Amino acid sequence: MKDKKMVLYHRILQIFILYTFLLNINFSIAEDNYVLNIRVGAYDNRPKIYTNEFGQIEGLFPDVLNDIAQQESWKINYVYGSWNECLSRLDNNDIDIMVDVAFSTDRAQRFKFNEETFLVNWATVYSKNDIRINSLIDLKNKRIAVMKGSIHTDGEHGIKQLLQQFAIDCEFVEVDNYKDVLTCLSNNQADAGVVNRIFGSLFFKLYDVKETPIIFNPSHIKFAFPKQSSIAQKLIDRIDYNLAKMKENPNSIYNKAMYVYLSGFPRKLIFTKKTINGDNVFLLTHAEKEWIRNHPHIRFGVDPEFAPFEYLNEKNELNGISFEYISLINNRLGLNMQVVKDMSWNTVISNAKSKKIDVLPCVSITNERKKFLKFSTPYIHFYRAIITRTDMPFLTGIHDIEHMTVAVQENSSHKDYLLDQTSIQPKIYQTLKEALYATSNGEVQAFVGNIASAAFWIRKLNLVNLKIAAPTSQEAQTLHFAVRNDWPELISIINKGLSSLTQKEERAIRKRWVNVEYKPGIDPGVVWRYILQIVGASCLIFLLFLFWNFRLKKEIKKRIQADRELNKANQRLKKLDQLKSMFIASMSHELRTPLNSIIGFTGILLLEMTGPLNDKQKDHLTRVNNSAKHLLNLITDVIDISKIEAGKIDVHPKKFMLAEIIEEAIIAIEPQLKSNNLTLQKYVPDDIQLYTDKKRLLQSLINYLSNAFKYTEKGFVRISAELIDDKIKVSVKDTGIGISQDDIPKLFNAFERLESHLKIKAGGTGLGLYLIRKLVTEILGGEVFVDTKIGQGSTFGLIIPKSISLKNENENDNP
Ligand code: ADP
Repeated sequence: MKDKKMVLYHRILQIFILYTFLLNINFSIAEDNYVLNIRVGAYDNRPKIYTNEFGQIEGLFPDVLNDIAQQESWKINYVYGSWNECLSRLDNNDIDIMVDVAFSTDRAQRFKFNEETFLVNWATVYSKNDIRINSLIDLKNKRIAVMKGSIHTDGEHGIKQLLQQFAIDCEFVEVDNYKDVLTCLSNNQADAGVVNRIFGSLFFKLYDVKETPIIFNPSHIKFAFPKQSSIAQKLIDRIDYNLAKMKENPNSIYNKAMYVYLSGFPRKLIFTKKTINGDNVFLLTHAEKEWIRNHPHIRFGVDPEFAPFEYLNEKNELNGISFEYISLINNRLGLNMQVVKDMSWNTVISNAKSKKIDVLPCVSITNERKKFLKFSTPYIHFYRAIITRTDMPFLTGIHDIEHMTVAVQENSSHKDYLLDQTSIQPKIYQTLKEALYATSNGEVQAFVGNIASAAFWIRKLNLVNLKIAAPTSQEAQTLHFAVRNDWPELISIINKGLSSLTQKEERAIRKRWVNVEYKPGIDPGVVWRYILQIVGASCLIFLLFLFWNFRLKKEIKKRIQADRELNKANQRLKKLDQLKSMFIASMSHELRTPLNSIIGFTGILLLEMTGPLNDKQKDHLTRVNNSAKHLLNLITDVIDISKIEAGKIDVHPKKFMLAEIIEEAIIAIEPQLKSNNLTLQKYVPDDIQLYTDKKRLLQSLINYLSNAFKYTEKGFVRISAELIDDKIKVSVKDTGIGISQDDIPKLFNAFERLESHLKIKAGGTGLGLYLIRKLVTEILGGEVFVDTKIGQGSTFGLIIPKSISLKNENENDNP
C-alpha cells in the first residue's frame, strides 16, 4: 500500500515536472511570438520626428524605429507631447522609448541610453537678416530665442552655460519648438536663435533669417529609456543590433531616411525601389524599347520663366534643373525629348491638352492636370511661399493673407492650391514676372508661388522691395515629369530613367543650381565688386588729386617766383624809365642851348644886320632857322613830358585872370592866325580868377589853338570858357577836318598822328595832345575832352579846378 502510494506520489511529481517543463516550453514560445507593445514619446522636431497632415507620426527616427519594430515584431504606439512632457513621461516610466535624445552625463544619471549613436548633431545660431553676428561676443545684450529644455539651451554645454562662461549677458526668449525659434527671429521677437543644425539647414530659407558662424555643443543623438523599465535592456540590445546592421547596408531604411530627410527630399523616396547608389537600374523591357523606336520625336514644353527649374535664358537657350535631368535621361535611354520654344506657359498648357506637346518635364500634380496628364515619380521638391512687399506686416502663414488681394500665376499648381484649399480668390497673372511686378508696385498685396523661382526672379529683376514673407506650409511640394495621358508607356520609361540616376549625378545637378537659389537682397559678391570698384576709383581720383595738387603747388611756386621777378623787373624798369626821362630832360637842356644860338644867329643874319644876303643865302638861312625852331619845339615838348614822367616837373601856382591867359594864348598863335583866312572867336568871361600853374595852362591852350588852326581850312576857331561850380571849362572849337570815331581813342597818345590830307602840311610831332593830357591831368588836376565828327570840325577842351588843390601841389612838390 505504501509502495502504491509512493508510486502515485512519484507519478504526480513526474507529471508536475513534465507539466512544468511543458509549461516552460509553451511560455517561451508564447513570449517569442508575443507582440511587444512599445510606447514611444513623440514631439515636433522636423525632420527628425513630427506629425504629418493625417495625424501620423513620421520623420527620421520614427521611420527607422518602425523598420526595427517590423523586424522585431514590436508594436509601436506613439505618445505625443511637448519635449518636456516627453522627458517627464520617461522619468515616470509612462513611455518605454524616447527618440532623439542627446546624450549627456547628466542625462545618463536620469535615463538609460542605447550604445549606437543614431546621428551626431550640434547647435547652430541663426540671426535676423539685418544684424551681424560673427562670434559669441556679438550676442551681448541680444534677445536669444531658444527651445525650452533643449540640451542646446540648458545642457552642460548649452547656450546658457556657454554665455555664462564668457560673462555675456543676454535675454532668453524660451519657446516650445525650433519652428517657433525661427519664427521669433522673422517676427522681431528675438535677435538670434538656437536650433539644431538639421532643422536649421533644412528650414532656415523659409524664414527671414541667416546662419551665423556660431556652432556649439556637438552631441550624440540616441534613444533614451526609463531607468526603472524592465524591458529597457532588451530594447537597447535589439535597437543597437538593428541600427548597426542598418548602418552597414547603403540601401537600408536608415541610410535612405538619412539621405532623404537631411537633403529635404520628399519622404516617399525612402520607400521607392530606387536605390541610393543607383546600382539597381531597371532595364527597359522589349516593348518599351520598341515604343522608343516608334516615337523618335518627343516634344516637351517649358515655362520660360520657371527658373531655376526650367527657363529660357537671354540667348533663348533652355536652362535649369529639369533640363539637366532630360539630357541625362535622353542619353541613358535613347529618348529624343526636344524642347518646343517660343510659347508662353499658357500656350504650352493648352498645347499639352490638345496633345501638340507630349511632355512637361517639371510640373506639380493638380486635379486639373490629372485630367490630361500622367505623372512620373517626383524628382525635385520645392516649397510654396508667400511673397509680399518688405513694408508689409509680419505673416505667419496662408491664413494671414485670406483677406488680401493675392497674385498667382495662371496655369500654376499654386492657383489650384489657393482655389482648392483656401478661400482666397487670387488675381491671375499670365507670367511669374508679371505677378511679381504687380506685388512690387502694390497692385496686389501678396504673391503665392514657388520659393526658388520667385527668389530667382526677385533677384534677377532687382525687386528689392519684395520679401519672402512666410511659407504656406513646411511640406515640400514635389515636381514631376508629366506625359500626355495616352502615352502611359513613356511614364514608365521616364520613371526607369529617373531611377537609373545615381546619387552622385543628382547631387551634381543640385549643387549647380542650389547656389543660384534664394539670396536675400543684393548678392554680396556684387556689393563687394561695386565696393572694390568704388574704392579703386576713389584711390585713383585721390592719387590724381594728389598729383594735381603737387603740380599745382609747383606751378604756384613757379608763379610766385615769376611774380617776384616780374615785380623786380618792373621796379627796375620804372627806375630805368625814370632814369631815361631824367636823361632826356637833362640832355634836352644841353640841346636847347646850342639850338637857341642857331636860331638867334640865323635870325641876326636873316635880318641882314651883318650885311646883305643874296636870295639863295636868305632861303638857306630861313630853312635852317625854321628847322632849328621846330627842333626846339620838339625838344621843349620832350623835356616837359620827360619831366612829368620822371615826376620832376615844377608846379608854380599863382593867381591870374582867365581872360588874361586866353589873350596871351591868342597872341602866341597870331602868326598862324594871320597865315590863313580863319576867324577867331572868343567867348570868355572877364571875371574869372584862377589859382593854378599859369605857364602849363597857357601851354595847353596854345597847343589846342595851334591844332585848331592847323587842321581847319575854312570857317572859324572859337575859344570859349565858362565857370562850372569851382571848375573852369575851356573849349576850343573849330570847323576843320574833324576826326573819325575810330581814331578818337588814339588821340592823346604819344607820337600819334592821324592820316589826313593835312598831315604833311600841318607838320607836327604827335606829342601835342599827349603833353596836354599829361599837363592837365597830372599837373593841373583836371581832365581833357574831345567832341568831334569827321568833316564837321572838332571841339577840344579841358576842365580844371579853379584853384589847384594842395594835394596836387604837394604831390608834385614832393615826388
Ligand atoms: P601834331 O599836331 O603835332 O601832329 P598832336 O598830338 O597835337 O600832334 O595831334 C595829334 C593828331 O591829332 C594830329 O596829328 C591830328 O591828326 C589830330 N588833331 C589834333 N587836333 C586836331 C583838330 N583840331 N582837328 C583835326 N585833327 C586834329
